[in-house]
Amino acid sequence: MCLFCKIVKKEVPAKVLFEDDDVLAFHDINPGAPTHVLVIPKRHVVSLNEVGVADAELLGKLVIAGRRVAEETKIAEGGYRVVFNTGPHAGQSVFHVHMHVLGGRALSWPPG
Ligand code: AMP
Ligand code: ZN
Repeated sequence: MCLFCKIVKKEVPAKVLFEDDDVLAFHDINPGAPTHVLVIPKRHVVSLNEVGVADAELLGKLVIAGRRVAEETKIAEGGYRVVFNTGPHAGQSVFHVHMHVLGGRALSWPPG
């Protein structure tokens, strides 16, 4: 079972912000910004490379959960970024799809 599936099953501890039947939001263990939260589907999906129209509702829920993260961590007004690292060039290191929500400081663009 992958690391994030173990977090879903509470076999690995995480600082959970909120969850529902479909998604889980928890703080990144190595934050890159004052707010750095990961939003994941509870169902195992490897990466964006594996999603299709059957996953559209789930992906919509992830994005809406990202908006809730921004509201609850008070970064919505200041601004934030959501990122799906996918594959080697993006440095994806955990192969269970996850959406980073980063904010709380100015973020440079484009990423390095
Ligand atoms: P990525 O590089 O896009 O695959 O992102 C994986 C993210 O998962 C990294 O930002 C890690 O810091 C984070 N991470 C790895 N292990 C854990 C963990 N046990 N709890 C919370 N976040 C983690
Ligand atoms: Zn998984």
